[in-house]
Amino acid sequence: MSVHKGKNIRHVKNLNRYVILHFIRDHGPITKAEIAASTNLTFTAINNIVDELLRERLILEAGYDISSGGRKPVLLDLNPDAVFTIGIHLNASTIKASVINFKGAAVAQEETKLNAGAGRDIIVEQIFRAVDAIMSKQGLPKERFVGIGVASPGPLDPYNGVILSPPNIPGLASVPLKQLLEERFPMPALIEKDANVMALSELWYGAGRGLNNLIYIDADLGIGSGIIFNRKIYHGFPYGAGEIGHATIELDGPRCNCGNYGCLEAVASGMAIVRRAGQEIRRGVASELAPMYVTAEDTVDIHAVMEAAQNKDVLAANLLNESARYVGIAVANVINLITPETIVIGGLLANKHPQYFEQIKSVAMSRCFASFHKEMMINASELKEQAGVIGAGTLVLEQYLSNE
Ligand SMILES: [Zn+2]
Repeated sequence: MSVHKGKNIRHVKNLNRYVILHFIRDHGPITKAEIAASTNLTFTAINNIVDELLRERLILEAGYDISSGGRKPVLLDLNPDAVFTIGIHLNASTIKASVINFKGAAVAQEETKLNAGAGRDIIVEQIFRAVDAIMSKQGLPKERFVGIGVASPGPLDPYNGVILSPPNIPGLASVPLKQLLEERFPMPALIEKDANVMALSELWYGAGRGLNNLIYIDADLGIGSGIIFNRKIYHGFPYGAGEIGHATIELDGPRCNCGNYGCLEAVASGMAIVRRAGQEIRRGVASELAPMYVTAEDTVDIHAVMEAAQNKDVLAANLLNESARYVGIAVANVINLITPETIVIGGLLANKHPQYFEQIKSVAMSRCFASFHKEMMINASELKEQAGVIGAGTLVLEQYLSNE
C-alpha cells in the first residue's frame, strides 16, 4: 500500500512538473503568482517544483515583472539551451534538418537534396548524413541532444515509427525509420506525418497559439492536412487521418501518384501545376517558361512557375489561381464538416505567394455557411518553411519531458 502511495506521489509530482514546464513554455516569461492563478497548484508545490527546475537549469529567471509596490516578482522562462533536439522534415525533393532548442527555436539549419527516386538504402543513408551534419554544425556535445523527430509524408504508422507507402517517395515504403535511427544514434526517435507536425507547431508557436482545435492545410509539392483536437493530433483509427490531398475533387481527373483518379493532389498540388505548365506550353500556349522546354524531356520546377507568376506571366498566374480555387473548395468542405477554431494554410505555394493564400480564403469563405464566418479564422502559416522542423523537434522534446 505504502509503495503505491509513494509511486502516486512521485507520479503527481512529475505531472505537476510537466504542467508547470508547459505553462511556462506557453505563457513565459511569467511569475509564480500567474502560474498559481491558472493551474490550481498550491504555492508550496509551485515553489518546490520551480526551485527544482531552476537547479536543473531547465528554466531560468528572466528579469522582473513590474510591481505595484513591494518586491518585484521574478519572471520565469524556459532556458533555451537546456537541451536540444533534431528536427528533420522530408518531402519529395529535400531533407531539411535543424537543431531545435528548448524554446522551440531553430538554431541551426541545413537543407540537402533528397533523391526521391532512389532505393531505400540510399535514402536512409541520406537521412543519416543529414542528422550527422546538423548535429555537428553547432559544435554542441552529443549528450545535449535528447531526441530526433522526423516529419515525413504519409501514410505512416506513428506508433511503431514505420513509413508505410508515401506516393511521392516510393523508396521509403515500409521503412521502420524510428528503429533505424535509434540503432544508428544513441537517442530516441519518432516519426510523425508532416502536416500533423506542422499543425502542432502552429498551435504551439505560430498562427494557432492559445487555441485548442486547428486544421493545417499543407499546399506544397503534395497536399496534406493535419488535424488537432484538444491540443492533440487526431490520428484517426488507427491512424492516417488528414489525407485531404487524396479526396476526389474531379470525377474524371488525372491519375494521382496514389493510384486513384481526380485527387485534389493530382489537380492542384505543386506537382500538378508543374505538369500542367508543361502540357500547356507543349500545346503552344505562350509563357516566359516556354524557352525552358527545348527537348521532350525538359521540365521546370515549381519555383520557376511561381517566379513566372510573380512576373505576371498569364499561364503561370492562371495555374496558381486554379490550384488555389480547388484548395479553397477543399477547405470549405473541411469547414462544413468540422468547423475548427482556425484553419492555417501553409506549404510552399501559400508561404511564397500571398495571393494564393488570399484566393483560398475567399473561395473557402464563399462556399461555407455564412454563420461560420464570424468566429472562425483562416490564417496564413506564421512559421512557414520552418513549421516542419520546429514541430518535429518539439514533438520529440514533448516525449522527453513526459518520460522524464
Ligand atoms: Zn491520390
